[in-house]
Amino acid sequence: MAKYSFKCRDVGMDCAFEIHGASSVEEVMEAAKAHAKLSHGLDTIPPELAEKAKQAIKEE
Ligand SMILES: [Zn+2]
Repeated sequence: MAKYSFKCRDVGMDCAFEIHGASSVEEVMEAAKAHAKLSHGLDTIPPELAEKAKQAIKEE
């Protein structure tokens, strides 16, 4: 089964946050949204950032 990873750096943030071992793209996006809210003060993710984040998700 594929696992997915995401690095906050890959969407242009100066941030060391990474997600590893998520079992779906949706799981990565949920974790990334929670992180964006907590660490970057983004209550909602702008559509262009969400799109960037999706493209930055990699299969590991
Ligand atoms: Zn971050």
